[in-house]
Amino acid sequence: MSEVEQAQHPQIPAPNEETIFDKIASKQIPANIVYEDDLVMAFRDISPQAPVHIVLIPKHRDGLTRLLVAEERHKALLGHMMWAASEVARREHLEAGWRLTVNDGVWGSQSVYHLHFHILGGRQMGWPPG
Ligand code: IMP
Repeated sequence: MSEVEQAQHPQIPAPNEETIFDKIASKQIPANIVYEDDLVMAFRDISPQAPVHIVLIPKHRDGLTRLLVAEERHKALLGHMMWAASEVARREHLEAGWRLTVNDGVWGSQSVYHLHFHILGGRQMGWPPG
């Protein structure tokens, strides 16, 4: 993010600023972890918006404050995150259907600037989203 963008959106932290998800990834803060491997961690959202609501993060943010800033070098990690999301959905028995969401930036209602996927399920989802 440029300095101008940072000034326009002061709630967006600097790329190297530690977020709550860094603390969860390093286990400084406890979380209800449902899946973990070398690259990613998935845990239950503290404020669930559906019967199943899981947050999937890369353990090392590596500059990925948000999806918009993804670079070529992140392609393998992003692919792994998609696979891990499907693995979580299988483990949660979401065969009836589920939703994978990325809230990106101010207009996307992103609140934690450490890239994450929302895995939502257990009820009928609406469209369009709010
Ligand atoms: P965002 O609004 O897309 O950035 O989503 C951030 C999500 O993280 C929200 O759904 C929050 O409820 C969730 N969240 C924030 N802090 C914690 C926590 O400490 N544990 C689990 N989920 C959290």
